[in-house]
Amino acid sequence: MKNISRRSFIRNSALISAAALGSSSKTEARSEQPLSDERFGMLVDTTLCIGCRRCEWACKEAHKMANQPVDSYDDRSVFNSKRRPSTKALTVVNEYPNPADASKPTDVKVQCMHCDHPACVSACIVSAFKKKENGAVVWDGSRCIGCRYCMVACPFQVPAYDYDKPIQPEVRKCDFCYDRISQGKLTACAEICPAEAITFGKRIDLIGVARNKIKLYPERYKNHVFGESEVGGTSWLYLANQDFDKIGFPKLGQSPAPGVSESIQHGLFAYFVPPVALYALLGGIMWLNKRKEHSDKEE
Ligand code: SF4
Ligand code: SF4
Ligand code: SF4
Repeated sequence: MKNISRRSFIRNSALISAAALGSSSKTEARSEQPLSDERFGMLVDTTLCIGCRRCEWACKEAHKMANQPVDSYDDRSVFNSKRRPSTKALTVVNEYPNPADASKPTDVKVQCMHCDHPACVSACIVSAFKKKENGAVVWDGSRCIGCRYCMVACPFQVPAYDYDKPIQPEVRKCDFCYDRISQGKLTACAEICPAEAITFGKRIDLIGVARNKIKLYPERYKNHVFGESEVGGTSWLYLANQDFDKIGFPKLGQSPAPGVSESIQHGLFAYFVPPVALYALLGGIMWLNKRKEHSDKEE
């Protein structure tokens, strides 16, 4: 709740600022890049997920984050509330009622969706977020200035900010196990999933697999692959037996996440300061932050 209210505050402040600065500019803020058909994706079949949360455990292990013994993830009391990814957990599993079978709830893994047209990338004024050719959206801490526009812009409310590190900004989110997949390995969550609820592969193939499942088992699945076209498409794709808005997904259109990120950038570029001055200002802030961090370390 603390994170959500902070996020709401930041979102409102940014929207007000963007509105005050003016959002009608024609300035181009988003740079489009061609997407490779070879890019990877992940398909989550929520009808197979058993809510074991091993994916949560494996994700933390793979990212060397503070972790609990794997057995502690059997505690199902966590499903009493809905959780969001955070700086302490890049992915979480939530549970929802299953209208088809009350004895088997629907478990849904949540993390960054790795959008094909990521709002976090277009919102970030120092290019700390990048969409990689393999489909991953990654964050570069050496560039980040901690403005948190990415948090405001993300339609899935994913990027989490480490408020314990105000000097060296740290934004955390699922990185698609970028290092692992670059070495030809599976993502940690797909590798450990005992129910084969997560499939890693080429996104284009996964859409085929999902469509085929819907065709073969129309009574089992809703005729909707979430992420195939939402906000212009995402690398993570989901199948379910009920409407996605009943299991925690936002209702989104097919256009890439509009509005906020571009409003912020349009406002900045059109009415605030020219880009060169802006980058000089941001560079100064980064330099001061690093200098302070350095002197704190020396002390
Ligand atoms: S889900 Fe949010 S953080 Fe992840 S790529 Fe999309 S816009 Fe960026
Ligand atoms: S892809 Fe990697 S970083 Fe993302 S949720 Fe799975 S294990 Fe975590
Ligand atoms: S490891 Fe697989 S079955 Fe277990 S909670 Fe995660 S996605 Fe579901």
